[in-house]
Amino acid sequence: MRPIIFEGSNLEFVSCYDGINHSIWNTITGPMLPLRAAIREHYIREQGYKCAYCRQIKRETHGSSWDVEHIIAKSEHPRFLFEPENLALVCKECNLSKSNKDVLTKRLREKSPYPRDKESFSIIHPHYDTYSDHMDISILSGKIIFIPKNKHKGRETFDMCNLVRFSYEYGGWDSFNYGLTKEVSNFLKNCPANATPQKISELLGFLNTTVDSSFSEEIST
Ligand SMILES: [Zn+2]
Repeated sequence: MRPIIFEGSNLEFVSCYDGINHSIWNTITGPMLPLRAAIREHYIREQGYKCAYCRQIKRETHGSSWDVEHIIAKSEHPRFLFEPENLALVCKECNLSKSNKDVLTKRLREKSPYPRDKESFSIIHPHYDTYSDHMDISILSGKIIFIPKNKHKGRETFDMCNLVRFSYEYGGWDSFNYGLTKEVSNFLKNCPANATPQKISELLGFLNTTVDSSFSEEIST
């Protein structure tokens, strides 16, 4: 993904930023308006209308569907507020869940430059990582399941962005219930690193049946 290159009045505004007062980001009048719109339009095209963390596609372009994401939270390191490689576009749900959580594997000194290597980040970095190296998205009987491929970036992104929500919110999993959410989450935590996608599918299929039958028993008693 190509980082944004600021131009014209946007470049002027960004160049004058003091690196401290990140609350200017949320101002609703003045030069922040066209600047935020330019960032949104750039990354929406670069990302092909897909959220950087959950990959769901939303064709809308307006701000009520998408949030501009600061990968390193602006409240933690305000000097990266307009750092092009710290910006991406995410859906509201991922943004809300990730919030201002720490994504760095090492503490950054106050004046350190932006860490431009994937090892410095505990989650899938939208600019530096290849998503599919860390996460599988499977559709099982029309139901979406995220399967972290490793316990670092895959698992961290899954937890930080609450990707288990897809199994019930967007997956159309009619019989999805709290028991299944808990079981799928436990299963993914303990899933062997060398499990093949086929084996995982089998285990999840079995899990669904098991939880469903025990759930209906609970209701009928
Ligand atoms: Zn998302």
